[in-house]
Amino acid sequence: MKTAIFPGSFDPFTLGHADIVQRGLQLFDKVVIAIGVNPDKKTLFSAEERLQQICSCYADQPRVEVMLWQGLMVDLARQLQADCFLKGVRSVVDFEYERTMAAVNAQISDPSVETCLLYARPELESLQSSVVRELLHHGADVSAFLPQAVLSQIKR
Ligand code: ADP
Repeated sequence: MKTAIFPGSFDPFTLGHADIVQRGLQLFDKVVIAIGVNPDKKTLFSAEERLQQICSCYADQPRVEVMLWQGLMVDLARQLQADCFLKGVRSVVDFEYERTMAAVNAQISDPSVETCLLYARPELESLQSSVVRELLHHGADVSAFLPQAVLSQIKR
């Protein structure tokens, strides 16, 4: 069974993230969405809220697992016996960052874990969680950017 880990802060989980998960399911048997928990980083939604939001998107999809994660990605990969890290690339900025991460992770993991980069769909490549946070802060409508299940959770 091929397992991919999709790591991120998902603050909040957007349609761009959901698209990567959907496409990842065509390549892997299982996609584990690993929500990074960093006590030093301020987030709009708490780790528990993000967990709930994402779980509600995949309640009917047994091939998607959602978990909180703290520490090194390679340790998580070993623990889950995952084959690959799944990442989305929107721009050269993402690309440069992911290239470094992929090289380091391949070097420090044992067995070596590959990184699979999927290009963002053109219509989603400008979508960033930080923009959604800004819009939410000003009370703007964000329904075009978030999965319905996440919107429902936020409204609650
Ligand atoms: P963001 O960068 O928007 O704050 P994350 O850090 O949670 O979001 O991103 C987790 C992963 O999802 C990264 O690999 C990132 O490149 C990818 N990603 C984020 N937004 C998109 C998008 N709109 N399309 C494709 N991939 C995305």
